[in-house]
This record gives sequence, structure tokens and C-alpha cells, in this order.
Amino acid sequence: MAQIIDGKKISQEIKDELREKVASLKEEGKEAALAVIQVGNDPASGVYVGNKKKACAYIGIRSLSYELPEETTEEELLALIEKLNGDASVNGILVQLPLPSHIDEDKVIRTISPKKDVDGFHPENVGKLVIGEPGFVSCTPAGIIQLLKRSGIEIAGKNCVVIGRSNIVGKPMALLMLRENATVTIAHSRTQDLKEVCKRADILIVAIGKPRFITADYVKEGAVVIDVGIHRNENNKLCGDVAYDEVMPHTSAITPVPGGVGPMTIAMLMNNCVESMLMY
Ligand code: NAD
Repeated sequence: MAQIIDGKKISQEIKDELREKVASLKEEGKEAALAVIQVGNDPASGVYVGNKKKACAYIGIRSLSYELPEETTEEELLALIEKLNGDASVNGILVQLPLPSHIDEDKVIRTISPKKDVDGFHPENVGKLVIGEPGFVSCTPAGIIQLLKRSGIEIAGKNCVVIGRSNIVGKPMALLMLRENATVTIAHSRTQDLKEVCKRADILIVAIGKPRFITADYVKEGAVVIDVGIHRNENNKLCGDVAYDEVMPHTSAITPVPGGVGPMTIAMLMNNCVESMLMY
């Protein structure tokens, strides 16, 4: 019987632990604050930003909300970030992506102080991940490590295949699994014989961005399968990159969509915000 990895439950555990930590820090007079910046009114971004603010309220992190109009210039956005960089009462700065096309996302990411980069996207934090120094790690991959560890899944020495090489998910995921002593393979759009590569995986992490792409013939019997993908199918129901119903019986553990990886991202963002206050 496959173990269904319950991301909702594990993310709640993490949020409750953080809530306790934040309450005891408040007794010492320390309060964490996260600045959340949204440019334009993309409805999906609005939902993500709303969920982040809700999580802040639950944990006891003060959230500062900046809802800027679509026509905000790059200079105006960079000036706001610089102001928040210099504000000692702000521990984390989050700019909701994607940004309108007239704003250079890379420039925005590089302008956020690495000490307040709770998304873990700044090149300095990415570099720290590569050389194994403490720093902020991208939230979705960091959440997957928590899912594996808190579900009692051994990582060291295991063959791990990560499908996808994006800067936000695939690459940091592979580096984190390496840090945990897995033997890591990164597969991507130019990988030859993807099925054969995936079949070697004891732990298969799928961040391919294609609905139900990974079917049972990609999966070794008894493997652990982590599905990062989020899509809406033709019936408007959420599904992942993995054909869950057919793959699940062949696994020893698997994450569902929804309720697997998704809820972990915000929990780890909150964790980074509290860490920021403790580290800097
Ligand atoms: P992306 O599109 O940037 O990257 C997809 C990767 O898949 C690319 O590196 C590409 O090389 C690889 N790929 C594409 N087609 C392939 C093929 N046929 N064979 C092998 N590799 C192939 O996507 P992303 O930002 O990394 O996100 C991946 C998925 O995860 C998306 O569905 C996204 O919505 C989801 N996501 C979920 C969360 C969460 O919180 N759960 C967070 C971020 C992303």
C-alpha cells in the first residue's frame, strides 16, 4: 500500500511550530514582518498573495501589503524595494511573480537584499546553496525536503531523478537532494530516453509542467514519487504532472495534487521569514 504524503497536515505542523516560535520571540520583544508586493491585478497572483497574508496572520508575522498598479515603472518598484531593504523592521521582501512585461524580473530579484530574500531567488542565496552555506532556499524545493523527512523517507544514498531544471524548482531541488546525500540525476526537455532514466529513480521528483505526463511506465516499482505540477484539467479539477491514479499503486509513497507539495510552499516562506529575523 502506498503511503499518501499529506502535505496539508505536514504544512500545518510547520505553521504551528512557527506560531509557537513567533509567540516566544514576541515575548522577547522581537516581531517578524514580511513585505508583500504585487504589481497589477492578475487574479492568480491575487489569490497567492492573499494566501501568504493569511498565513502571516495565523503565525503572527506582521504583513505589509503593497498593491501597485499595472503601470508602475521599474524605477518606482526598485525604489520601493530599496526603501524596504533599508527598513530594519522588515525581515522579508516578497515580490509576487510574474511581473508586467515592462519590468525586468531579474533586476528586481537582484535588487532585493539577499538578507531579506525570503523566496531564495537572489544569486547570492543560490550561490550559497551550491557551496553548502546557510542562506535562503527556494520555498517549493525546501518544502519537498521537509515532506520527505517528516514522512520518514530515507534520502541518503538513494537514486533521485529530478525532472525539470528551472531556477525556482528543478535546479535548487537537485542541489538540496545532493546536500542530503542522494545520487542525483537532472532530466529535462533534451534528455534522451526519459522513461529509462526515470525507471532508475528510488525517488522521482517531477517538475515538468505538463499535466499527467508521468504514467506508470516511467516509475520503478516501489519508488517514492513527488509531484510538483499544478494544472486544471478539462473539468476544472486540479491535477499534477503525474497520472496519480495509475502511478500510485506502483509507489511506496506519493504526493497527491492538491494536498501534496502545494501547501508546503507557503509554510516554507513563513519559515524563511522567521529565519531571517533570527539570522540577521
Ligand atoms: P518550467 O516550465 O520553468 O520548467 C519545466 C521543466 O521541465 C524545464 O526545465 C524543462 O526542461 C522540463 N521539461 C519540459 N518538457 C519536458 C519533457 N518532455 N521531458 C523532460 N523534461 C521536460 O516549470 P517550473 O516553474 O519548474 O514548474 C514546474 C511545475 O511545477 C509547473 O506545473 C508549476 O505550475 C508547478 N509549480 C508548483 C509549485 C508549488 O508550490 N506546488 C511551485 C512552483 C511550480
